[in-house]
Amino acid sequence: MDSKRFIYAFEDGDGKNKILLGGKGANLCEMTQIGLKVPPGFVITTEACLSYLEKNQLPAGLMDDIRGHIKALEKKTGKGFGGGANPLLISVRSGSAMSMPGMMDTILNLGLNETSLEALIRQTANERFAYDAYRRFIQLFGKIALGVADEHFDERMTAVKRKYGARLDLDLDAGHLRELAAEFLEVVKRHCGRPFPLDPYEQLEISVGAVFRSWMGKRAVDYRRQFKITPDMANGTAVNICAMVFGNMGNDSGTGVGFTRNPGTGEKLIYGEYLVNAQGEDVVAGIRTPKPIAELEMEMPELHRQLLELSDRLESHYREVQDFEFTIEKGTLYGLQTRNGKMNARAMVRTSVEMFGEGLISRERALLRVEPAVLEQLLVPQLAPNFHGKSLAQGLPASPGAASGRIVFDADTAEAKGLAGERVILVREETKPDDIHGFFQAQGILTSRGGKTSHAAVVARGMGKPCVSGCEQIVIDDKARSATIGDATLREGDVITIDGGTGHVYAGEVPTVEATFSSEMVTLLAWADEVARLKVMANADTPEDATRARKFGAAGIGLVRTERMFNSTDRLPIVQEMILAGTQEERQAALDRLLPIQRADFKGIFKAMKGLPVTVRLLDPPMHEFLPSAAQLELEIAHLHQLNDSIKGLKDLPDTLKLLNPKLYQQYADGLTRLVGGLRTFEESHLEDDVIHRKEAILKKVRALQEVNPMLGHRGVRLGISYPEIYSMQIRAILEAAALCAREGVEVYPEIMVPQVATVEELKRIHGYVQRIHKVVELTHGINVKFKFGTMLEVVRACVRAGRMAETAEFFSFGTNDLTQATFSFSREDAENKFLPAYTETGILQDNPFEVLDIKGVGELMKMAVTKGRETRPELKVGICGEHGGNPASIHFCHRIGITYVSCSGPRVPVARLAAAQAKLLEHEYRDAD
Ligand code: ADP
Ligand code: MG
Ligand code: MG
Repeated sequence: MDSKRFIYAFEDGDGKNKILLGGKGANLCEMTQIGLKVPPGFVITTEACLSYLEKNQLPAGLMDDIRGHIKALEKKTGKGFGGGANPLLISVRSGSAMSMPGMMDTILNLGLNETSLEALIRQTANERFAYDAYRRFIQLFGKIALGVADEHFDERMTAVKRKYGARLDLDLDAGHLRELAAEFLEVVKRHCGRPFPLDPYEQLEISVGAVFRSWMGKRAVDYRRQFKITPDMANGTAVNICAMVFGNMGNDSGTGVGFTRNPGTGEKLIYGEYLVNAQGEDVVAGIRTPKPIAELEMEMPELHRQLLELSDRLESHYREVQDFEFTIEKGTLYGLQTRNGKMNARAMVRTSVEMFGEGLISRERALLRVEPAVLEQLLVPQLAPNFHGKSLAQGLPASPGAASGRIVFDADTAEAKGLAGERVILVREETKPDDIHGFFQAQGILTSRGGKTSHAAVVARGMGKPCVSGCEQIVIDDKARSATIGDATLREGDVITIDGGTGHVYAGEVPTVEATFSSEMVTLLAWADEVARLKVMANADTPEDATRARKFGAAGIGLVRTERMFNSTDRLPIVQEMILAGTQEERQAALDRLLPIQRADFKGIFKAMKGLPVTVRLLDPPMHEFLPSAAQLELEIAHLHQLNDSIKGLKDLPDTLKLLNPKLYQQYADGLTRLVGGLRTFEESHLEDDVIHRKEAILKKVRALQEVNPMLGHRGVRLGISYPEIYSMQIRAILEAAALCAREGVEVYPEIMVPQVATVEELKRIHGYVQRIHKVVELTHGINVKFKFGTMLEVVRACVRAGRMAETAEFFSFGTNDLTQATFSFSREDAENKFLPAYTETGILQDNPFEVLDIKGVGELMKMAVTKGRETRPELKVGICGEHGGNPASIHFCHRIGITYVSCSGPRVPVARLAAAQAKLLEHEYRDAD
């Protein structure tokens, strides 16, 4: 016999050891040991399972051991297994450390055979009940342990019902069920080539093996892979053997499930359902509609009282909301299972705050038990919880929240209708920076192409608007202003609803519920801020975004992207003028017009964030992003030339017609003369020539600006050095806005940040501009504006040179999106569209490094830069902006390496605040990646 102990009675098992006993088994042991009424039983360990899977047979001596424990059960219950006047029936239940669908189902009523059946009939004096239990057991065992498909049994059932004219199962009497049981035994015999095992120990042995094997079943294996359940989280399944109790013994019996608190709202009130005169599976199987537990108070007041007591004892013991199963057998209440309750985000937050208030959990626990990512659900509108409609199509859940509106297919229409007060959803194949004005006025964005990091997704997330991207089932026809999904056609103006949290798209308007920043959430996040060392800032480009971020608890703005301001419709023409300028004077003239606009933008943001720091990044993207594409221009120019040709043709028309068909000419002479006159006036206006010239000039510029690899090209600080007047205008706008705010008594903390810096000299040059302009502003405005000057670290070389950078920079901000591209030498779009999915699926990479910070590579660079920077300037402030700033795993790492703040999109701020607190609370557990 194996020296290991493979079986623990519920009285002996260690309730903490879920790896060994499985979650269900460990909790059954614990419930028994704290004195709750649980039917007696025992657990066969996961180690026995692993041994079985390795040797393909039950460990030596296991069956003897099982017999011993069954004997003990017989003694405890006073019943006999497979015989005697009082038959012992048992359930065989699987259960691993992690709850996992796909493993073997539970077999109830095991131990029934001809002998125990007779005893059961005598004992209950209910022949129908006994035969009903028997035929259910044969089918369940046949299906689960022996693999006989349900349909073979169902076919017999139908035949018997037809024979006796029964409509429902309930219409069958004891005799019919006896006949059915006999037929079921035949079905098993026919399909297995041997008779149904009537020896209960044989039934048990077969069942235990089947449970063990189900651990390696395809569904279970797939599930573990999908949810990344590793062997140190769950390894093998235990088997729980439990004496049956009967909820189906009459109207003083029943069965149900309960939550110690409401899992939908978190309210402290027992919540659940029960059925009178029913057995285990009936409640979930939906054969009858269960009643809410509140009704038990009328029906069985004493049992209702006991149930409340059970609920309280479970919760005060586990110090966590419990989800439990119970059965009442002839007036006695039994607990059959308990586990931590799964709740929605709202309920998690509320129970955290309330359980702390009740002294049930510590504040640390209250913070740790809520998963940060779920908070985002609470900050955006959701589909009404009682809505269960079918969706038209599903794309990627790119930005959470639900929104309804009329379909529009372009940004201009979105803007026009939106401004007119209509609710619209912008539907496009994909979006570009010049669609931004449409985003502002749309309730949500739906694209048929592009991933979770496409332009649409990133911009929508930044604005906190719902977005479904990459919804490939939708085929958009821009020209026809319609879209098709399968055979359905959607036209402009049709109403749809999108759910950016799930990626579903629905026809028509689906009711939604507004986001609520509950008082419990405010409390929980205030605790988080007290605990956390990392500060949480927001990325925001407008005063509205900034105000919202502040509501979400941002400690400042970590990133203002000035190019977002350049893109709005009233500014783009001026920006284009600046780019197209032939001389420095022309460029300066355009910049002079931009200056007051930018200054007003910054003032707005500074005011919204009064008292808090605002970090403004100088212009970053390459200039061609503000111009139309060459292909677009070529097309437009070709159209205009065609127009010229057509006009020439029309001018020749009268003469040609006179020649070919003088009669016809006579008939239309008047009109033709008028037409030619009109054409001449048009030609003299040179309207189309002017447009052609202008477009050709732009095209020339676009071609000149064309780069092989724009992301590595003329952008960021490189632009600032080539065109000092652009950065100078922006610096002046920032400092003047600050001066004007200061004069109005608004406390401001501006910070100027330079993107794409690679060399110390670049940073020094820009610092030179800043110092010069600062003096000018001081002279002209009479205020010495306090500000900070710093650099993004998003180029590998800049990280390497961090020690010297810190001589000029008062702060660093890691631009981890670009830094990740640079570290991997991946271009993000290509990577995500072509090979990254395969990389993560086959395990070459654990996660998409653009979503979860690559700690081993990018993280090492960051660690080095922080160390070097602080050697030069110990008080150096270091932040991280970019997508990773809102990712909980990345936040843990940032905490570890001593980063000062993370900056993320507004709705992610609460997520990051909680994650920052958890990072602090768990810092001693953090393990370095190897
Ligand atoms: P699951 O993991 O699917 O919940 P369970 O092992 O908990 O499976 O059992 C399925 C159903 O059978 C549950 O409703 C449970 O309460 C009931 N059940 C299990 N064992 C017994 C038992 N010994 N007596 C009565 N009902 C039982
Ligand atoms: Mg269960
Ligand atoms: Mg960048």
